[in-house]
Amino acid sequence: MADHVPFVVEDECIACGSCEEICPEVFTVNETLGFAQVMNPSGAPTDKIQEAIDACPVQCIHWADEME
Ligand code: SF4
Repeated sequence: MADHVPFVVEDECIACGSCEEICPEVFTVNETLGFAQVMNPSGAPTDKIQEAIDACPVQCIHWADEME
């Protein structure tokens, strides 16, 4: 769903690769830049994205609509 999309706070990401491991359809770690990026926000079901959010060791993945 377009209004429920994840994003990564890039400054806080430690590029551990956990989100990509759990949900590679959505997250990709950019080795060059040193943080994860959301490549396809609607590439996986909400619960799978939530699983990646919960697994992030620094809690830097958020739902965009929960930040406003
Ligand atoms: Fe970055 Fe969190 Fe993904 Fe690890 S799980 S790469 S810290 S966004």
